[in-house]
Amino acid sequence: MWNPWHGCRKCSAGCLNCYVYYFDGKRDKDAGTITKSKTNFNLPLKKDRNGNFKIVGGLEIPTCFTSDFFIAEADDWRKEAWEIIKKRQDVNFLICTKRIERFESCIPDDWGEGYGNVAVAVSCENQQMADKRLPVFAKIKARRKHIFVAPILEYVDLKPYLGISRFDMVSVGGESYANARECNFEWVKQIKFDCDKFGVKFDFHQTGSNFVKDGKRYRLNHRDEYSQAKKGQQFLLTLK
Ligand code: SF4
Repeated sequence: MWNPWHGCRKCSAGCLNCYVYYFDGKRDKDAGTITKSKTNFNLPLKKDRNGNFKIVGGLEIPTCFTSDFFIAEADDWRKEAWEIIKKRQDVNFLICTKRIERFESCIPDDWGEGYGNVAVAVSCENQQMADKRLPVFAKIKARRKHIFVAPILEYVDLKPYLGISRFDMVSVGGESYANARECNFEWVKQIKFDCDKFGVKFDFHQTGSNFVKDGKRYRLNHRDEYSQAKKGQQFLLTLK
């Protein structure tokens, strides 16, 4: 993970139990203060004692996952971050945002059809945010576009959007930790069927800590959320 800046402002329902606030709160740190990283701003360019990049080529790097890459407070730092991204063409940068409406004003001049090493993901936790963000996302240019339905708060009907742009993947995940809101497997299943109709790749990456399947509620610890989601994904792949 590369976090060139840290901290964020809550902007929609999906932010209620944000993990950045959760972890910063445990350390008496204010997650609402956005700061440029003093030590890791240039992490993708850092080398080891043998002169090799510490982040090896071919990896996909979640980028700015303890903030939002397009948050206004980072406007002065983003140009430099794009330059770093441009220098590491061998690494894939995954940028996830809830602020896709700021995208056009935040991309570099030579973005063109999108940098080949950047995937943009938009997070839509409920129908309201899908209806707000996906029409904007559909219009932007990026080499790879992902939709994250996370933390999923209800069934989100993506069908009106899946056909209007090329989306490479839809990834669904539930909310984590003590106050997690319910993730219902029926919602996940329906979204998988919707993706099938449009030939869009589907992934169920995380059950969340409060998972409901076949009317039964499961309280999971964080580590099990991924392994159980993998089982759920395998089950879903058998369904037509
Ligand atoms: S946009 Fe993401 S990082 Fe920012 S407060 Fe919301 S959930 Fe947290």
